[in-house]
Amino acid sequence: MSGVPIRELLLVPPGTPADLAAIDPRSTPGLPEDRAAQRDPKAWARADVAARLPQLAELQERLYASAKVARDPRRVLLVLQAMDCGGKDGTIKHVVGGLNPGGVRVHSFGPPTREERRHHFLWRIRRALPAAGYVGVFNRSQYEDVLVVRVHGLVSPEIWSRRYDEINRLEAGLSVDGFTIVKVMLHISPEEQAERLLARLDDPTKRWKYNVADVEERSRWREYQEAYEAVLTRCSTSAAPWYVVPADRKWYRDWAVAQLLTEVMDGMHLRYPEPELDLEAERKRVLATVPA
Ligand code: ADP
Repeated sequence: MSGVPIRELLLVPPGTPADLAAIDPRSTPGLPEDRAAQRDPKAWARADVAARLPQLAELQERLYASAKVARDPRRVLLVLQAMDCGGKDGTIKHVVGGLNPGGVRVHSFGPPTREERRHHFLWRIRRALPAAGYVGVFNRSQYEDVLVVRVHGLVSPEIWSRRYDEINRLEAGLSVDGFTIVKVMLHISPEEQAERLLARLDDPTKRWKYNVADVEERSRWREYQEAYEAVLTRCSTSAAPWYVVPADRKWYRDWAVAQLLTEVMDGMHLRYPEPELDLEAERKRVLATVPA
């Protein structure tokens, strides 16, 4: 390892203006400098993820067990945001897929339904929050309401400009209630997005992912980057920090998110609970039920 934790390398420091142009989507911050990692970084990173996932799954199990047995209110919420083709689904498959699905709640947010539109924009978010002990994953999130909504002018600027503070208040409250919030922007380049769109057209097994509207959205790249910078600048807080993961290289993206989650969950000092049991007496009770 470079020695500096990924959670520091990729953090958008609260209170500082974010500059996406300064972050190379092809870069690989934090990859170790040893020879094996340098010779074939892709193979190294894939192997490291495979080796790390059981550790992450154990941290998840401790989180789950603590809630179940010790009424620990803690839970984790991973928020994933990206431009189209940015790799949210791949990250969920390759990283979140390594956890116990019984303790994970993945929620995808599309355009609001008719019912959702009748409510405040955070209504559907609150309903999708993970219970104590769970790892919740938001595939898109409350941030769409200051991204696509801002870029397309779906509500007036007076309304969307208030939403940053509303989101910050929600997240600060959640943090007090036991949420550890990890917000990840998967940062891809327009060139990489074009490659991925073409791959979707070329490959019959990926064609179902192709969305004709994505091409039109490409013409608004600059506006989206500005909207993302506003999100990162205004909503990276100590209670709910944003991380920017360079995501043109899928193997780095998976490695960085797995590493980030491990560091964050390690920092929660999760322990297996010790139920109040008279072990000797319980052993005897179990043995008494075993036929001689
Ligand atoms: P994905 O593109 O992530 O695979 P979908 O095809 O379901 O998933 O599309 C999600 C779409 O929903 C995106 O175009 C996104 O911009 C849109 N969307 C999400 N939240 C909102 C919102 N609050 N208002 C308007 N559009 C939204």
